[in-house]
Parts: sequence; structure tokens; C-alpha cells
Amino acid sequence: MTAALIPAIAFGAHLAGYLARFEHAIAEARAVLLRHEAPSDIVIIGIDSHSLRELSEWPWPRRHFARLLQQLDAAEPSGARAARDRPERTGPKSVFIDVDFSSHTTPDDDQLLENALAEWSGPPVLLATHFQLRDGAPDPDFLTQPLPRFARHAGEVAVTLEQSPDGLVRAMRSSWLSRGREIPSIFAVDEALPPSTPIPIDFSISPSSFGFAPFSDVLNGRIDPAAFAGKRIYVGATAVELRDVVAVPVYRTLPGVVVQALATETVRAGPLRSLPGWLLLGILAAVAAAAQLVAERSTWRRNVLWLAGGLVLLFGASLYLYDVRRIDLPSVPFALVFVGAFTATTLRSLDRQTWRAVAFALRLKRRDALLRSIVDSSADAIISIDGGGTVRAANPAASRLLELPLYALTGANLGRFLPPLGADDALDVLDGRVTDCAAVTATGNELPVEITVSRVTVDDDVLYTVIVRDVSERVAQQRLLDHQARHDRLTGLPNRTALYEYLQSVLQENAPADRAALLLLDLTRFTDVNDTLGHDVGDEVLSVAGGRLTEALGRQAFVARIGGDEFAVVLAGIDTRDIVDAVALALIDSLKPPIHARGVAIDVGANIGIAVSPDHARGAQELLRRADVAMYAAKRSGSWFEYYEEEHDNHTVRRLRMVGELRAALEDETLMLHYQPQVNLRTGRAESVEALVRWQHPILGDVPPDEFIGLAESTQLIRPLTEWTIRRALSDVASWEAEGLSVRVAVNLSARMLQSEDFAEHLSRMLDAQGVKPDRLELEITETAMMDDPARALQVVHELGRLGITVSIDDFGTGFSSLGYLRDLRVHALKLDKSFVTDVEEREQNRVIVESTVQMAHALGLKIVAEGIETPWVDNYLTEIGYDFGQGYCYSRPLPSAECLAWVVRFNAAE
Ligand code: C2E
Ligand code: CA
Ligand code: CA
Repeated sequence: MTAALIPAIAFGAHLAGYLARFEHAIAEARAVLLRHEAPSDIVIIGIDSHSLRELSEWPWPRRHFARLLQQLDAAEPSGARAARDRPERTGPKSVFIDVDFSSHTTPDDDQLLENALAEWSGPPVLLATHFQLRDGAPDPDFLTQPLPRFARHAGEVAVTLEQSPDGLVRAMRSSWLSRGREIPSIFAVDEALPPSTPIPIDFSISPSSFGFAPFSDVLNGRIDPAAFAGKRIYVGATAVELRDVVAVPVYRTLPGVVVQALATETVRAGPLRSLPGWLLLGILAAVAAAAQLVAERSTWRRNVLWLAGGLVLLFGASLYLYDVRRIDLPSVPFALVFVGAFTATTLRSLDRQTWRAVAFALRLKRRDALLRSIVDSSADAIISIDGGGTVRAANPAASRLLELPLYALTGANLGRFLPPLGADDALDVLDGRVTDCAAVTATGNELPVEITVSRVTVDDDVLYTVIVRDVSERVAQQRLLDHQARHDRLTGLPNRTALYEYLQSVLQENAPADRAALLLLDLTRFTDVNDTLGHDVGDEVLSVAGGRLTEALGRQAFVARIGGDEFAVVLAGIDTRDIVDAVALALIDSLKPPIHARGVAIDVGANIGIAVSPDHARGAQELLRRADVAMYAAKRSGSWFEYYEEEHDNHTVRRLRMVGELRAALEDETLMLHYQPQVNLRTGRAESVEALVRWQHPILGDVPPDEFIGLAESTQLIRPLTEWTIRRALSDVASWEAEGLSVRVAVNLSARMLQSEDFAEHLSRMLDAQGVKPDRLELEITETAMMDDPARALQVVHELGRLGITVSIDDFGTGFSSLGYLRDLRVHALKLDKSFVTDVEEREQNRVIVESTVQMAHALGLKIVAEGIETPWVDNYLTEIGYDFGQGYCYSRPLPSAECLAWVVRFNAAE
């Protein structure tokens, strides 16, 4: 298949002229190689610069040409002139004048030339006819022919030179057909050539083959006419000024008349022949078949030699044929056939395996380049070392990291920079592992790095790749995070976590006989500072206090801040309690001078609880707990410090004491009721308040309601507490009413109160006693309380409803009430729990709850209240989505009665 295809393609390309450029280049090379002087009888009488100068006018008067002919004829003995046809003539064999005689000049001059031509004794002088070509054929409108009066006495030859597409003249036509007349080219006059056939000119013939005589020298008789005997005389312009030059191969430019002479000489040597198409195709096919046959029997390496040899042979053959046989063999199609046949067979002979190998090699090359670029651009240092630790290669990052130029790094021992690699069997130990260590750079800097060693075998050579990563940033970051996790931001002291860890390590390290003491210190009066002077002052007091404690103990001691106003000190390796006592006193003393914060002198004291290991506990956890119990005891007894005693730790005792204290508080009226305003979001007015109980414990300070309400619920105290709250609330409402402020008050009702049979009745009596209308009172019952005993709750709510007292469900969303139950309950409002409200701006998922609850409440005909509104954004948002009431720090914190009254008046007035 290929055997036939390749020569066909080569032949086609040759015919279509696609190969012309290569063919020309080869022809030119061949001409240069074969350049020679041919034995020629042509003498060119040139109209050269010298003649032009001597005859000093142009165009020359025709009498010059007439005289030239007479001069040339002078070579002829006068006797012979009469008998032209006599063979022993001694004048020129022929004369060809390549000059334009197509127009009239002066009558005298024209006459002189006509006479000279007529009197010419030899064969008729040949005169030039020139065609302009149009589409490769003579254009009859642009024909320069000798005047008939000259032509009558002369022969006529065509001098038209045809350019090939690249502008060079390479061939001449044997004859031209013009107006039905066949005019031969000069070289065809004496030869039998097929008409109108392009004859390639042989440029291996050197122009120096021709004789040359300047026109003026001949004219003025300076050359003996005998020199022209038997010669062909070509007369024509050779001076460059006359521009009768043409572009040719090999010589670049030649005068037209010289090209005519070359063409003549070419033909005389036997014209160059080209092979007929069919023969060429046949030879091509034969050569292709032979080439393929040869190629198929050899390996591809051998084939390359065959191919080279074939091409040399081809060129040699083309030279031989050209020079000796006068055959112009196109070499390029043959070259194509050779290359094609050899390539095709070679490719075919490569089996699958070889193709895979070639493809793999190509990919490998690309992968190699890719790998190299990865290695080079890696931020990690990548170093290749041999088994002895000597650096074989390294990437730029290695040079940066170790602060050493690459050339210096190569050949150095890596153990110098990475000490762990210095050990004897280090490489095998570290192989395949990630190891942290410190690197020492060439300039002596130390930096933390992470190294990964892996063993590779390259051509039986065992190497190790060491990847070194600078982890100083990571280490620094870790240290910072570590510090943050273990330190209190306000005071910079270790925090509870750090204390715990420290305690553990101390207790572990301690010999059983060694003692360690933990001192927990709680600032007194600190809550007051925070509440009255604000957090900023509170923070300042804390950090000054922290500083004083540290100072009192010196740098060595361990001081931590473990909570709001609690500090801890650890004393390790103590032998007597005296030392602990002394430290405790020193701590107390350090806090005695007032602390100046924002221009206020603040007195803070402290109570210290102390637990000693191993006397009181062996583990850190228990030691902490016991120190805490001791601190509580110190607070209660009002002593500066107290060691842990078992008795302190009696929980029930403590609880009982607290219940007693709460009862006392109820009786002494040291409980207080604060009120937090609720705002009607539709009108923007404060219309109600929620009553929230407060207990200011003489020793413990503010006890949060969540704590002591639970205590009260677990005893019988809840009933008097609730009654106290309601009475207090009603009396405050009554007194506000007296001041002209009409608001509703909401009181929280404990779950336990729902169980009380006569509660509704009791309540109605209290309302009467205070003279407050039932619709002024609202009761908040938590959703969970309702669900403890739904039937009972339903009943109570009904009874209350009959009395005209409204009920709302508190902390809605934290229990699991069913919709049907809510509908039957006939409560007044749902109070969405603050956990959904406070952070509704940040927490998308809470919005779903906040928005669906308002829909649901309104669908059930209930009012909806939001508590825990802390920002104006939440206020706006809730108002927009239809909440009825809002409550929260954004409006006001719970305030004592008188203050709340003032707040509401002011708020509503502003509105
Ligand atoms: P509660 O009924 O849900 O009361 C609302 C709590 O939220 C109050 O805490 C109030 O100070 C606080 N609060 C108000 N606005 C905001 C705010 O914008 N953001 C935040 N984070 N909190 C806000 P308080 O006074 O500590 O009361 C705690 C709980 O103690 C009350 O929760 C209630 O269940 C119970 N309680 C309080 N007083 C009484 C009472 O007289 N009787 C009964 N049985 N329980 C009470
Ligand atoms: Ca409430
Ligand atoms: Ca609530």
C-alpha cells in the first residue's frame, strides 16, 4: 500500500510544482559543482561602459552599427565577398545584433544600416525581435521588430527571456509564434528543435567561455578583424547602465546577450532532456519498491545508513546524468521516496513494545522536567545525600534555609547543619519518619525544623532524600496558642487549666513526705465594685490585685487567676504550716492598701481557703475542691484564711444553714424584689414589668435566684417565698398606681405552687387586700412546669382565668408543649425563651424558631413576648416580624422598685 502511495505522492508533488524550490536549489548546487568553460566559438561584441564613453551619445546613430558590419566584413577578402556561399569564407560565421531597430531614426543613418545589411557578405545578419509576454504568450500590441527595410536584408530571431515564478530566468523557448509566423530563438537557428519548447539553460557553463570585444575597439579597428573569422558574433549591451541585464541562478545577474550565448552553448552541447512523466513515475515506483525491500530487511539503525547512502547515490546519479547524459533528473521526488519508504518501514517495524517505550520515554522526560520544577520551586529544602551524609544535590530552598550558597552546600556533610544526622546509624533510624529537631545554619542561627528522611536507590547507589521544613512559625504560633489557652488575658496570670496542670505535676513529683499547699483566694466586696463602678473599673482592680499577689510572693511562686475574683497560689515543698500561714498573711497584707482605679480608691479584702497535700487530698481535683470548701468557710466565718476541715465539707449542713438563712431573710425582709420593664413593641410604650427576686446574702453576696429558688422548692419555703413575692409586687403596683403610673406586673410562679389546692383562692384574697384589680397581675409559669402535670396546670390556669388573672408561658421553646394543649390552655401569652432571642442576629437557625413562633402564637390567638433582647438590632427585627412585647437589657436591667417606676415614666414620656 505505502509502496504505491509514496511514489505517487512524490510524483504528484513534483508535477504540481510543490518541489520546485528544492529542485532549483539542487540544480543551482549542481551547476556550481559542475561549473566549467565550454569550448565556444561565440564572441560577444559588447556595448560596454568603455564604448559608451568613447562614442559619447545614446542611442547610437545607426551608422555605428553599419560601420561595425563593414569592419567585420573587412575580415573577408574582397574576392570572396562576391561569392557568399563559398566554403572558404574567412569572415565571422554569423552575426547576431541584439539591439532594437524597430523605429526610424535619421534617413541617412537608416540608409547606411540598410546598405550595410544588404552588402553583408556572409549569411544574413540576425536581428532581434522582442515580445512583451501576456499570460505566457507574445502580446501583439507590444512587439519590437526590426523595420521591414532592415528585415528584408536580415534574418530575425526572438530574444524574449521568460522568468520563472521566482523571478529568475532558467530556460528559453525554442521559438515563438507571432501573427502566424514562427520566430526561432537565436540558439534554435541552426538546430533542429521542437517548436515553442522551453529549453533549460545550463548554468554550469561559465560566461568566460565566450570571447569578448568592446564595441568601440572593433569599430575603430583596434582589433584585427581576422580575430572574428569563423566565429559567431553576438552584439549586445553589456554595460550595466543600459539595464539590459536579467536575474539568473548561480551568477545572480547576466547581460541579456550573455544569456542568449549560454542558451546557444547549452543546445550545442546537446540540449538538456527531462524524462517523460510516465518514465519518471515508473522509475520512482521501482526505486520505492527497492528501498522498501532493503529497509524491511534491516534494523532501523542500519536503515538510517541505507537512507544516507541512498541520498548520496541519488545526488551522484543526478550529477552524472546531467553532465554526461544531458538528462535533468529531478532529485527531490526520489529523495522523498527514499525517506518515505524508509520511515514507513521503520515505523511499521517498531512493535507495540517499542512504541510504548517511546511514549514512556517522552512522558518520563516531561515528568522529569515537572519533578525538577516542583523540587526547585518547593518552599521546603530538599537535599539528596549519600550514605555518609555528604550532600549530592539540593534545591534553592535548601540554600536559603541553611544560609549557604548551593555550590558550597554540595559536598558538605549535612550532619553539620542537622545534628541528628551526624550520628552513626542516624539515616537508617530516621528513614521513613518525620522528626522535629533544631537546624544550625551556616551562619550559626538555630531554627526549629521538621525533617523527613527517605531512602532511595538510584542505579545501585543508595541515596537519602532529606526534606527539611522550617517550622519556626508553626512553633511560635503553637507557643502563642498554648500561652493563650493557659493564661488569663486580663492579668496575664496562668488560668484554671494551667493551675490544674501545675498542681498535677507538683503532686506527682512530690515525695510522699513532701507537702504542697493550695491557697484559694476570693476578693471581698468585689461584686459591689463591678456593680457600682462598672466592669472597666472592676477589670482594673483585678489586674492590680493580681500584680500585688505576684509581687508579694516573688517570681518563683505560682499564682493563677481561676475565675471572676478568685485567685490561686501553689506552694510546693513546704514542711511546716507556719510557712503557709506566713504566705497567707502576706497575701492579705498585699491587698490592704486601697487600689486606685479611675481616680477612685477602692478597698478590697480577701478570704483564703487552704488545702494541703497529702493531709487533705492527694489528687489535684480533690485538693482544689477542698480548698474551695475552706474558702467558703473563711468567707462565712469572716476570717482571713481557713484550713480545710472535714466539718466544712458537710454539704447537708451547709444547705440547711442556707435554708435557715433564706427563711430569716424572708422574715427580716432582706429579700428584695426588682422589676424589669416590658415594652409593647406595637406602641413603643412600657406597659408592664416582671418581678424578679433578689437575695443579698451578708456573706455570700448576691445569690442568684436560680440557686435559692431551687433550694426553696425543695423545702416548704417556696410557698412563703411566693406569697412574699406576690404581696410585694402587688403593693408596689398599688403604690405606683397611687403615683399615677398604671402598669401590669408579672410574677414568676414556681412549678410547686401549681400543686397547692387553694392557691387561686389565696391569690384572690391578696388582690383584694392590696386593692389591685386582677387584670393588673400576670403569672409566668415555665413551659416545663406546665408539662410536669398538664391536667393540673390546665385546671389552675382555668381557675386563674376565672378570677381575671392572665397567665403566660415562660421560657417557651425549652419544653415540649403540644399545640392542642396550648389551645386548650387559654393562656394569655407565650414568652419565647431568651436563649433563642439574645443571639438571633448571629445565629441564623434561631431566626427560624423566632419567626415560626410568632406565626404560631398569633394563629392560636396568643400574644408573643420576647425576653433577653440585648441590642437595638434584635429590637427592630422582632418589632418588624410582629412580636407584641419585648424585655431585655436593651431597654433596662431589673431595677429596684423606685428606680423602675422612674424609668418607665421617663421612657413613656420620651416616647
Ligand atoms: P426568668 O423568669 O426567665 O427571668 C428572666 C431572667 O433573664 C432574669 O434573670 C433577668 O435578669 C434576665 N434577663 C433580663 N433581660 C435580659 C437580657 O437582655 N439578657 C439576659 N442574658 N438576661 C436577661 P434573673 O433575675 O437572674 O432570674 C433568673 C430566673 O429566676 C428567672 O428566669 C426565674 O425563672 C427565676 N425567678 C426570678 N425571680 C423569681 C420569683 O420571684 N419567683 C420564682 N418562682 N422564680 C423567680
Ligand atoms: Ca420569668
Ligand atoms: Ca424566662
